[in-house]
Amino acid sequence: MKINVLHAGYCTAPEHIAIHGGRWRTIRFPAMFALFRHPTFGAMLFDTGYSYRFFDETKKFPKRFYRWMTPVTLREEDLIVNQLATFNLRPKDISHVFISHFHADHIASLPDLAWSRFVYMPHAFSHLRNLHPFEDMKHAFLRGLIPTDFDARSHEVDITKPILLSEEYAPFKSGFDLLGDSSIIGVELPGHAHGQMGVFARDDDGKVFFFVADAAWLKRSIVENCPPHKIANLLFPDPKAYRETLGVLHSYFLTHPDTHVIPSHCEETISKFQKPPVG
Ligand SMILES: [Zn+2]
Repeated sequence: MKINVLHAGYCTAPEHIAIHGGRWRTIRFPAMFALFRHPTFGAMLFDTGYSYRFFDETKKFPKRFYRWMTPVTLREEDLIVNQLATFNLRPKDISHVFISHFHADHIASLPDLAWSRFVYMPHAFSHLRNLHPFEDMKHAFLRGLIPTDFDARSHEVDITKPILLSEEYAPFKSGFDLLGDSSIIGVELPGHAHGQMGVFARDDDGKVFFFVADAAWLKRSIVENCPPHKIANLLFPDPKAYRETLGVLHSYFLTHPDTHVIPSHCEETISKFQKPPVG
């Protein structure tokens, strides 16, 4: 399998919110997505990053606050459709989208992917489905980003059938074999959002990638086992679980120095995978 770490747009926010003791300056948080090119299942994505729909969906109050809190920059060439084209891929070539969680910066391009199956933890979406629209903001959820045929194309992870993971994944003991061929393993990373799913994948060179979504905003949080500012707890459905998950990621990081552990919004981590601009 070939793995590319990409991003579609970025937002800005103060570093000291993202990590305890961080600087009082505004930094960029890229909206990462990953492209997997699998020998059997073809092209697949982990999350999607931003799209222009984010702006459409946040035009009016109260959703406009979302834009104010995290100002977003998105260029034409960042659009997922345009980035796929650079790999000679069209949206219809994307067989699966693995959705870590349903915050807008992870799902904004779902409507562009009209042929894909959506794979996610059932409880990541079940609590959003029946939310009163006034509560959407609290969950950073923009309902208009969900395709109208979303249910028909959903393949929820069967959480009644976890698999035992080998020692190589420790301290993770169980996970979910998302394609049935052990190539993509999902694990639950509780705390940041209901049913947040991280994904392990190995590329053709044997390199292991661990996409941890928003279980940490910055890689430094994992390296130093250092949580965000306390105010961020207001955003999390389960701050205690968030802290525990961060501790687990920290131990994983210490014992797996060769794995690429990739938080979705860490510019320092994500920029290492991107080609420098030409010229
Ligand atoms: Zn999130």
